[in-house]
Amino acid sequence: MFDKILIANRGEIALRILRACRAMGIKTVTVYSEADAEAKYVKLSDESVCIGPASSKLSYLNIPAIISAAEVTDAQAIHPGYGFLSENADFAERVEKSGFTFIGPRPETIRLMGDKVSAKETMHKTGVPCVPGSDGAIPEDSDEIKTIAKKIGYPIIIKAAGGGGGRGMRVVHTEAALLNSVVMTKNEAQAAFGNPIVYMEKFLEKPRHVEFQVLADSHGKAIHLGTRDCSLQRRHQKIIEEAPAPGISEKKMNKIGARCASACEKINYRGAGTFEFLYENDEFYFIEMNTRLQVEHTVTELITDIDLVQEQIKIAFGEKLSFRQKDIRYQGHAIECRLNAEDPYNFMPSPGTISRFHLPGGPGVRIDTHAYGGYKVPSNYDSMIGKLITYGGSRDQALARMDIALSEILIEGIKTNVPLHRDLMNDRNFIDGGVNIHYLENKLKNKP
Ligand code: ADP
Repeated sequence: MFDKILIANRGEIALRILRACRAMGIKTVTVYSEADAEAKYVKLSDESVCIGPASSKLSYLNIPAIISAAEVTDAQAIHPGYGFLSENADFAERVEKSGFTFIGPRPETIRLMGDKVSAKETMHKTGVPCVPGSDGAIPEDSDEIKTIAKKIGYPIIIKAAGGGGGRGMRVVHTEAALLNSVVMTKNEAQAAFGNPIVYMEKFLEKPRHVEFQVLADSHGKAIHLGTRDCSLQRRHQKIIEEAPAPGISEKKMNKIGARCASACEKINYRGAGTFEFLYENDEFYFIEMNTRLQVEHTVTELITDIDLVQEQIKIAFGEKLSFRQKDIRYQGHAIECRLNAEDPYNFMPSPGTISRFHLPGGPGVRIDTHAYGGYKVPSNYDSMIGKLITYGGSRDQALARMDIALSEILIEGIKTNVPLHRDLMNDRNFIDGGVNIHYLENKLKNKP
């Protein structure tokens, strides 16, 4: 096994990766910006290296600084976590060219899946069901564009091939608005992602967001670990996730999951990954693949009893998957609430010092957080300060445990979204299960 791993990330996920390394007897190197010098996980790691000032561009996105940190500490592998450089193919390539192991897919796979047009084409070819749309990029010719849209049927959505983070998309309801929208989305895409290529899809009106976790080793074997429902979102940012996705039959799950695993084998995928789908009228429509660990990996861990970070590390070391598809057993239900330092209703970030911090506990409660009493939430990064996850034998029990855990949690000195989570745990439609991706925004709009 690796002797030493460098963690190229910060916050709760740096701590999560550190825990997996410690459980496996692997030494750790953390890297940190000046804003994170006091972080608890930095002190817990065997070695740490300051890689720059607070600005992520100069620290967590600074490829030469991270590679040098790996060189001076003799780390053998680099775990990128999520966000930052985790889906940057150039980074993965530099890591491997410098003689380290990148804990993630091959650079060419990251590149293939990072372009949404090539990702969709690939998935279509490998038998993964996709949203009906243009085959590839939209052509130049206006009449051809109109013909494609008519064939798909309005409303349609125009999406940037290089898009991400919920940006670079525009919904079109009528032919009159079509050509203008194409031009605007292309211009925006060029400005934001340096790539003007756009494609077209049927706009699904009330879908749920359901995704599949996969694991693939470097010996050509892949399996899926079932579904997660992440439909509670605001501005395409997930807020609550759960596993399994409620109301989807095991037969359907296994059918689509098997297609995802088979696609991984066909594209020579390596590591952990997520197939994201929109789900409507009991049909799945692929939208994108994330070639990294997800924030919400925890809920899958709780229902399968598999440590995904440890699996990522074993796969990167070259080990074969130690279980087959039929060994995977799903037990119970898990829910995750993302704890954000922000106003619960207008979502304005609320950085600052946490004056009092008390965490809940009890059966079925897991907390992944790097925060503590006296911790200063920096203003430079994402506002997520941790994740509260509950597990139960049934969905009802997981919900009830979450409700109690949220009532026990105490975070003072900054605003958090705990009040919103408490509201949602008592929301009739959420309790019933299966709300669509617009549910939360509509609920917030109608709030007096
Ligand atoms: P990103 O990489 O920016 O997250 P995605 O392709 O994953 O882009 O889409 C983000 C979100 O946009 C989806 O979760 C969904 O809310 C919405 N969306 C994308 N494609 C469609 C579609 N065809 N129909 C309806 N909503 C869509």
